[in-house]
Amino acid sequence: MGLIVQKFGGTSVGSVERIGQVADKVAKFRAQGHDLIVVVSAMSGETNRLIDLAHAVQERPVPREMDTLISTGEQVTTALLSMALDVRGVKAKSYNGSQVRILTDDAHTKARIREIDDKRLRAGLDEGYVLVVAGFQGVDEHGNITTLGRGGSDTTAVALAAALKADECQIYTDVDGVYTTDPRVVDGARRLDRITFEEMLEMASMGSKVLQIRAVEFAGKYQVPLRVLHSFKEGPGTLITLEDATQMETPTIAGIAFNRDEAKLTILGVPDMPGIAHKILGPIGDANIEVDVIVQNTGEDKHTDFSFTVSRTDLPRAMDVLQSVAGQIGAREVRSDARIAKVSVVGVGMRSHAGVASQMFAALAEVGINIQMITTSEIKISVIIEEKFLELAVRSLHSSFGLDKEPNDEGAA
Ligand code: ASP
Ligand code: MG
Repeated sequence: MGLIVQKFGGTSVGSVERIGQVADKVAKFRAQGHDLIVVVSAMSGETNRLIDLAHAVQERPVPREMDTLISTGEQVTTALLSMALDVRGVKAKSYNGSQVRILTDDAHTKARIREIDDKRLRAGLDEGYVLVVAGFQGVDEHGNITTLGRGGSDTTAVALAAALKADECQIYTDVDGVYTTDPRVVDGARRLDRITFEEMLEMASMGSKVLQIRAVEFAGKYQVPLRVLHSFKEGPGTLITLEDATQMETPTIAGIAFNRDEAKLTILGVPDMPGIAHKILGPIGDANIEVDVIVQNTGEDKHTDFSFTVSRTDLPRAMDVLQSVAGQIGAREVRSDARIAKVSVVGVGMRSHAGVASQMFAALAEVGINIQMITTSEIKISVIIEEKFLELAVRSLHSSFGLDKEPNDEGAA
């Protein structure tokens, strides 16, 4: 028995029937004697509907009024869930962000939490209530309603769990956990029992569909044990936690992540001299374009080729910037390629296991995939390859690193 923060996403509270099912689940935990804070999102589709309404009235809606509008969806579900709990004989009370006092900065539509006043919540818990709190919203120091960015209810849940030192923060959603890779790409993808915060962040390309990345960062910083579970199916889900030094059998690789949303730019025949990288990437940064993988190599003729990747939507702008840079620094040619993809193997076990990179390269070589760029961090190795080989690469790596599930494993997607 302890304090649990549970968060239910938009599809989990998407209809009155589903709100009833959520109430059944909450009531079950309550019957086990847990103290509960339940954070809810708006009904699925509701936040989008409200945003569309705003744009129908004003091309660029006033941010303060946008927040007043889009925070209403969560207020609806807190009240409905509290009623559904009442029907089931469970004492419950709804709270919006300002009633709790989730104090944020004043950056409307992307506010950051500064402080949570836990006094009212503690008093409510002590009186034996299940507290149903609106996700995604807060209030600034002047009392203006703010919101935390799309998907922000996850962050609300983690922040409340941190502020109240909850024993666990459970995120209920429409998948039953975090997988070794995308089950739509690899049939044999397996649900992970546990994954570290660091790995989860590196798996962002898949993880972000499960959890708001900011919530994972927050949970890591405040060491809040996070569990991702299916709202309506029984199962242990995936625990996201600190690295456990006592676990002898840490698997080397947690999973295979990938990203199709990158494009590569190459500037050829650049004079090899100090300051060149800055001359190339400075203007890219000034244009607010984020750079991911960078490779530079100097040939024998005192010229260098310089390649980097950006998000695919930024490619046209990056190309414009690079064309003008090329003229200024006397480069020979600029090329771009949008048909690339990034594949990464991720795992904290890499720190103590040599040979992960060579195993990765061998697996790709075996299926004839050419590697265009390589980048590594302490717990991740990424390669850029031709996009059409992406699925083949992910499947080969998944089986090469022994991540495929046994044919008799349960819990497949
Ligand atoms: N309702 C908000 C959104 O759709 C917040 C959330 O669901 O987490 O982004
Ligand atoms: Mg969500």
